[in-house]
Amino acid sequence: SGKQPVTVIGLGPMGQAMAGTLLDHGHPVTVWNRTASRANALAARGALVARSAEEAVAAHELVVLSLTDYAAMYDVLEPASAALAGRVLVNLGSDTPERTRAGARWAAERGAVLLSGGVTVPPSGIGKPESSTFYSGPRAAFEAHRTTLGVLTGTDYRGEDPGLAALHYQIGMVMFWTSMLAYWQALALGRANGLTAADVLPHAVGTMTSMPGFLRFYAERVDAGHHAGDVDRLAMGLASAEHVLHTNADAGVDTTLPETVVALFRRGMAAGHAADSFSSLVELLTGPTA
Ligand code: NDP
Repeated sequence: SGKQPVTVIGLGPMGQAMAGTLLDHGHPVTVWNRTASRANALAARGALVARSAEEAVAAHELVVLSLTDYAAMYDVLEPASAALAGRVLVNLGSDTPERTRAGARWAAERGAVLLSGGVTVPPSGIGKPESSTFYSGPRAAFEAHRTTLGVLTGTDYRGEDPGLAALHYQIGMVMFWTSMLAYWQALALGRANGLTAADVLPHAVGTMTSMPGFLRFYAERVDAGHHAGDVDRLAMGLASAEHVLHTNADAGVDTTLPETVVALFRRGMAAGHAADSFSSLVELLTGPTA
């Protein structure tokens, strides 16, 4: 076909979507998965199924890994070590920046180059150019393969440090998990008061839709270290956060999350920020830096 051949190792929902998308675009694809049956549907669509991870790695220069984490990469690739020299490993499993950097060193010691990726969409977003994946690692390897990787999702190269893709991924995930927990808390409070998720939805969407304005307003001030209490004061924020806590407690709803919010506001007060903006909590959260 003239299209670059690709090995895909790891056929969970993400790996299956990636291998399928590459096949749809005419790329020869070799696959391998620990649980062999997960390759059946791809084989029917034209993928070659390797008999071992080593055979899969040996098949093509470009090896996409879609595994749970970096520990799984070692489990899969240790037995394939003999085939690793000269390979470009594109690890699209998520993990911490530190574990990603260790993975890049591990690959280099075996003569391979590791590009790390953080995919920001679920399997349904694979194959859509408007989707995005953070990449980091050696620029030359990324540039050499960006066209093929661009078949999977849009590509957002963050730099040579292999930990950068994971860092940007985790910056998004810390917001995703806490925001979704905030939504579950709101739905629990609604339910305890006879409201369904459908009842709460328009209000919840409205609240989330207002957030970008807050993000933009505070970004510039935080970067300038400007936490003046001219638009909001931490003391006012604490009173409001306590109302949230008591509303949940009165309804018999779990208070772990609102208690944590109140505790952080109180620590900011104790640190002397009562008259500052609640953005001063960024300083508290950052902690003492070296
Ligand atoms: P799954 O957990 O469904 O798939 C994991 C894959 O890793 C399977 O192929 C599994 O093999 C393999 N695996 C795990 N541990 C080992 C091991 N010790 N040895 C060999 N193989 C192993 O995950 P997904 O496909 O959903 O996701 C893959 C990666 O993509 C994850 O890192 C995830 O965080 C990330 N991601 C996922 C998103 C999603 O919406 N699903 C969104 C963005 C990122 P087996 O089939 O044998 O179990």
